[in-house]
Amino acid sequence: MNKTRVLYPGSFDPITNGHMDIIERSSKIFGEVNVAVVKNINKNSTFTLQERVEMIEKACKHLDNVKIQYFEGLTVDFAKSIGCSTIIRGLRAVSDFESEMQMSLANKKLDNNIETIFLVADEKYAFLSSSIVREMASYGADISEFVPEVIIDEIKAKYSNK
Ligand code: ADP
Repeated sequence: MNKTRVLYPGSFDPITNGHMDIIERSSKIFGEVNVAVVKNINKNSTFTLQERVEMIEKACKHLDNVKIQYFEGLTVDFAKSIGCSTIIRGLRAVSDFESEMQMSLANKKLDNNIETIFLVADEKYAFLSSSIVREMASYGADISEFVPEVIIDEIKAKYSNK
């Protein structure tokens, strides 16, 4: 196996089966996958940072070479601090392409050693996003096909309190 350590950053609000697919595929290709939850001051999240981290930990228990962390600030700075020069992102549709390309070029401008590798979403999950899961859960719809089984109750609980 390739020994490269990679960083998979995102909001993961909450983690979905689409994210899981990217994590599992990356963990087969690379030596170590660092999934990192971004503490984004400009974006209101439904789940707290700690809840998001814990849900990913539960969902990734079976993956030996996957580490879960969180960070605040620039992705390139965090990548450097943990010794990663490769960022993984998932690409769903043309709509993702523009913003992902912009972010990848901006990161390269900030640090020329950083490369972004894109994995194309599995067609099963090409429509799936955290916001769709949140919307479904808020109306009490069945989310069992869209998120890891071990976090379903926690997502439901969040909306039953609201
Ligand atoms: P961000 O707020 O950084 O976009 P997300 O949690 O929404 O964070 O997404 C993190 C990464 O996972 C992004 O690269 C996104 O394109 C990718 N991603 C999100 N949903 C899916 C999916 N269903 N299939 C594949 N990749 C996905």
